[in-house]
Amino acid sequence: MRIVVAGGGIAGLACAAGLARMGHDMVVLERRPEFGELGAGIQIAPNGFRALDELGVAEAVLASSVRVDDLTIRDGLSGEHLIGLRTDADYEATFGYPYAVVQRSDLYQPLLDACRQEARIELRTGAYAVGYAHQLPGVRVILQSGEELIADALIGADGIRSAIRRQLVGDGDPVVSGHTIYRAVIDMECVPLELRATRVTLWAAEDWHFVHYPIAGGAKLNLAITRDDGAVDAISGEAVTDRVVLDSFRHAHPEVRQLLGLGRNWRKWVLCSRPRLDDWSDGAVVLVGDAAHPMLQYAAQGASMALEDAVLLARLMPVDVQSVSLAFAELSALRSERAAKVQWVSEEMGRQVYHARDRAQADRNAWLRGFTEQDLRAALGWLHGATEFTESVAERHPARAAS
Ligand SMILES: Cc1cc2nc3c(=O)[nH]c(=O)nc-3n(C[C@H](O)[C@H](O)[C@H](O)COP(=O)(O)OP(=O)(O)OC[C@H]3O[C@@H](n4cnc5c(N)ncnc54)[C@H](O)[C@@H]3O)c2cc1C
Repeated sequence: MRIVVAGGGIAGLACAAGLARMGHDMVVLERRPEFGELGAGIQIAPNGFRALDELGVAEAVLASSVRVDDLTIRDGLSGEHLIGLRTDADYEATFGYPYAVVQRSDLYQPLLDACRQEARIELRTGAYAVGYAHQLPGVRVILQSGEELIADALIGADGIRSAIRRQLVGDGDPVVSGHTIYRAVIDMECVPLELRATRVTLWAAEDWHFVHYPIAGGAKLNLAITRDDGAVDAISGEAVTDRVVLDSFRHAHPEVRQLLGLGRNWRKWVLCSRPRLDDWSDGAVVLVGDAAHPMLQYAAQGASMALEDAVLLARLMPVDVQSVSLAFAELSALRSERAAKVQWVSEEMGRQVYHARDRAQADRNAWLRGFTEQDLRAALGWLHGATEFTESVAERHPARAAS
C-alpha cells in the first residue's frame, strides 16, 4: 500500500521504517526545512530497545549510548540517597535489553539512516500536513501548500500540536502543565571528576526536581531541572541566563548547585500534556506517538511509547486497503490502556514523588526508602519488560490467520 506519514520525528520515522520493512510504500512529510533532532538527552528503557531491535536499529543506537549502572533518586535538599535501581547484567537478563541514555540525535540518526537506505521511503521536507478527507477506501492528505496526496492510509505522527489530531479528535491546543524545565548540555571535561558517574541521578525536592546523566558516549553531561511554578504560557526553547537558573534553585543541595553552575546556554520549556483518549483512529487515519498520547517526561517513556506504536502498527498493517480501518481501530484499542497507564504514572510521579510539598516530602522519602531492589524490578516489570507490542496478527488471532 501507499501510506503517508505526517511528521518526521521519532514516531514518524519509526513507523516509516517498520512499514517499509513489511513491503509498503511510504511518504514521510516533515514541515521543517530538514530532518533532525536537538542535542539534549533521552533515556531508553529495555522496552524501547526491544522496539528499536524490531526496527533493526538497536545496535546503531547502542553504539553511541551510555549503558548506565543504576538509576538513583536523592533528596534535593539534604542530598540523602533514597533509592537505587541497579541496571546491571542481571537487570538486562531480566528485561531482555539494557537501560541506556543517549543524545537525542543519536537515537534519531539511525532511524533516519534506516529510512534513507530504504528505497520504498520518500522523505519530504517543508511539507506541512494540515488535514485530510476520507476518499473511500483510502484518504486524501491536504498540505498547507494546497497540494493533495492520495493514499491508502494516513498516519498522524505530528507531535503534541498535531494538525491531524486537531481534525480527528478536535480537542484544541495542548494543556499547559504549569511546569517549567530548564535544559543544558555541557562537555564532560568541564565536570569535576568527583561529579562524574555512569548513572541517571534524579534529585527530588519540594516543587522541583533535577535529572542529570551522561550522553554522547560519555562525552557530554545532560542537565534538566524542572519546577512546578504554575507557568501559564506554553514556551518552547527560550534562552535564559545562567543567573536565572542558579537564582531559581537557591536552596538546592550544594552538589545540585555546583552542577547547575557548570551549565551554559540554558533554555527553557513550559511542558504541555493532553487528556487521555480511548480511540485515536478514524477510518484510514490513525495517530501515533505524542500526537496520540503525549505525556510529561517523568517516566522517561514518551519516545519508547512512540517506538512501541511503530512496531505494533507494522505488525497489524494488512496488505489490502479494505482492512486498514479495522487494523487502525485495533491499534488504538490495543495501545490505549498501556498508553493511558504510562501517562497517568508520569503525572503522578511528578505530583507525588518529584514535587511532593511540605510534609508530603517526608512521606515520600520514607516510601522510597522502603523499596528493595526486588520490589523495584517487580514494580517496573509491566513497563520495562513489555513484549506484547511485538506480537504479530497471527499470534494474536490464530483463527483469523488460519482462515
Ligand atoms: C524535556 C523532555 C524530556 C524527555 N525525555 C524523554 C526520555 O528520557 N525518554 C523518552 O522515551 N521520552 C522522553 N521525552 C518524550 C519524547 O521526546 C517524545 O515522546 C517523542 O519525541 C515524541 O516523538 P514524536 O515523533 O511523536 O513527536 P515529535 O518529536 O514532536 O515529532 C513530530 C514531528 O512532526 C513534525 N510536524 C509537526 N506537525 C506537522 C505537520 N502537521 N505536518 C508535517 N510535519 C509536522 C515536527 O516538526 C516534528 O519533526 C521527553 C520529552 C521532553 C519534552
